[in-house]
Amino acid sequence: MGDIDVCIIGGGQAGLSTAFYLRRTNRERERGGLAPLSTVVLDARENPGGAWVDGWPSLHLFSPAAYSSLPGWQMPAWTGSDTPPASHVVAYLAAYEQRYDLPVRRPVRVTKVTEAGASDAEASGRLAVHTDAGTWLARAVVNTTGTWDRPFVPTVPGMAVFTGRQLHTHQYAGPEAFAGLKVAVVGGGNSGAQIAADLLPVAGRVHWVTSQPPRYLGDDVDGRVLFETATRAVADRAAGRPSKGVASLGDIVAVPAVRQARDRDGLRARPMFAHLTATGAVWPNGSTADLDAIVWATGFRPALRHLRHLGLATRDGHPCTLAPEGSPHPTRSASDPRVWFVGYGDWTGPASATLIGVSRPARDTAEAITAGLSAEVEL
Ligand code: FAD
Repeated sequence: MGDIDVCIIGGGQAGLSTAFYLRRTNRERERGGLAPLSTVVLDARENPGGAWVDGWPSLHLFSPAAYSSLPGWQMPAWTGSDTPPASHVVAYLAAYEQRYDLPVRRPVRVTKVTEAGASDAEASGRLAVHTDAGTWLARAVVNTTGTWDRPFVPTVPGMAVFTGRQLHTHQYAGPEAFAGLKVAVVGGGNSGAQIAADLLPVAGRVHWVTSQPPRYLGDDVDGRVLFETATRAVADRAAGRPSKGVASLGDIVAVPAVRQARDRDGLRARPMFAHLTATGAVWPNGSTADLDAIVWATGFRPALRHLRHLGLATRDGHPCTLAPEGSPHPTRSASDPRVWFVGYGDWTGPASATLIGVSRPARDTAEAITAGLSAEVEL
């Protein structure tokens, strides 16, 4: 608690990567005879690992370990036949923060960020980071809170009268609870495809429901190809060339379990239902299905409610951001230069919401913050 140069909110992969680069820029400052910038990482969870802690038992990475690393230290190889499971990522993130002695405080939940100068003239120009463990006054705030804490469920007619179980991806803990049940999985992205594949051998009946026909990426496309495509798109855009981003490849990575469900077990998607009744779903063509449960694999929104008092400019449901000088990654708030965002997806840099892709936006952000705060001190 007290004064701090940089407050990072969130201790998952994005927060750790940013803290890693701040540690590195501090080393450079020290070599130049300058004091290091003080940094803290505040994380609401009891334990390390970010959202990976909540992954369902069959959740595996869509890339090998060598292509899922944070800066500085490769993810240890996974010896199983598949790509690494979520538990391997959790162990890696826990070891990573220890290895670099990153200044993580846990569990500390940030409840709101406000203008500090409003109540304290001496703190003018700082941001007050209010938490359940006290208040920090920060010169820069980096948000790395991810999206897992803000699940999104669309409003569908009849939801309130449906008497079965409804849950969102972030509550899904594996297929056992659905043995023999009739389940609808709603969502045409990776989570929807993977959960539908996971349920298929166990549930009585699985209806995979998507608003558009599913768009599989090629069977040879994994996270490495996605990262390379995203990197090429950034370079193309910077050079003024027409660019084809990751979205042009498809929506669903055909991991082995999904491939098997699609090719061998007959997993097929059907269009979105029109409404729900007490006991099931009704489609626009009048067909019906009895349901015991619905899994909403319908995505997430950035977990940024703690910033609501700052009145930041927003667009398409997220803060407007700009790239700091010399960087292609738009991680700085367009309306408050003290506020930064790392790891949320395309609006903070292509592939930035992946293990391998968060490194460059984190590096550019740490370097820009260090340069900006150093310039302030020299004035
Ligand atoms: P998180 O991991 O969510 O960490 C954010 C942290 O901030 C959490 O610990 C949270 O508790 C904390 N926090 C939130 N709000 C506050 C607050 N107010 N105060 C304090 N702390 C707070 N990526 C890959 O690279 N490969 C894959 O194979 C892959 N598969 C995926 C599969 C699924 C189903 C999903 C959903 C994502 C997948 N991703 C994958 C994407 C990505 O790597 C993860 O979403 C990743 O967890 C995002 O990391 P993060 O650090 O941004 O956020």
